[in-house]
Amino acid sequence: MRLYTIEKDGKKMVCGGYTGIEGLWTMDCYGLNYECMLDLIANADEAEMAHLEKKPACPPTYSMDDVKILAPIEHPVGDVMCLGVNYYAHLVESSKAGHVDIDQNQKATVYFSKRVNEAVPDGGIIPPHLDICTALDYEVELGVIIGKTATKVSREDALDHVFGYTIINDVSARNVQEAHKQWYRGKSLDGFCPMGPCIVTAAEFGNPSGHTVASYVNGERRQFSNTEVMMRDVPGLIMELSAGTTLATGTVIATGTPSGVGMGMDPKGYMHPGDVVICEIEGIGRITNTIGQE
Ligand code: MG
Repeated sequence: MRLYTIEKDGKKMVCGGYTGIEGLWTMDCYGLNYECMLDLIANADEAEMAHLEKKPACPPTYSMDDVKILAPIEHPVGDVMCLGVNYYAHLVESSKAGHVDIDQNQKATVYFSKRVNEAVPDGGIIPPHLDICTALDYEVELGVIIGKTATKVSREDALDHVFGYTIINDVSARNVQEAHKQWYRGKSLDGFCPMGPCIVTAAEFGNPSGHTVASYVNGERRQFSNTEVMMRDVPGLIMELSAGTTLATGTVIATGTPSGVGMGMDPKGYMHPGDVVICEIEGIGRITNTIGQE
């Protein structure tokens, strides 16, 4: 199933939805009373999650058109944990672009973090921060949402700790990344984390390997790959991160982007005010965002 954070008549709430159906069901329809997505992720037990997977017999409470769809987790718990380069072709293009100091023979995964004051929803505006950003780039990524707190989990048990998956655009100010020799600031500007349109539960999404990943700018396909070629797959990265760091319930992990970003193009394919960027992942859908004017 799909879980949405919505706003209706000034009230924010979590609703259930199903693939191919335009309707949304409030938690009342399931006999549940979770206030928000993070409350549900932290507290819904296995029986409740199984119950949510079944479409209620009653008609949907709202149609999608009647509500404002927000980012599924507007305010992530702590910074988003990110993989720097997790698709080999992106490692090569990043290294060639000379934008980041990456050794093509690097064996260890690159991890960094991204501050997200408020995630931007599907349909929302990405502010270009023209005063400090001269190289605005996009990165489509599979987002992993941790359900059950993970500490020292094995590869075999790793996926038991995943609540679900979403689409993230790891928007990046390349000039800021380069200037500071560290990615945090260039990745953390306000509005640089479009997320959504929903969380697809782990039960529905199935094996996180084997899903196509793509992005488009003004209708032109820029990125096209598949999660099966990740260098560190989802079980592997949960095992590695949780080996020394407890991953709290609600943690968001951005699993890295394939090749085809603007900095890897000649000439550079950066985004400008008015451009429309779409990030798409098979089994979740797509998020569409427009670059704002300032
Ligand atoms: Mg990224």
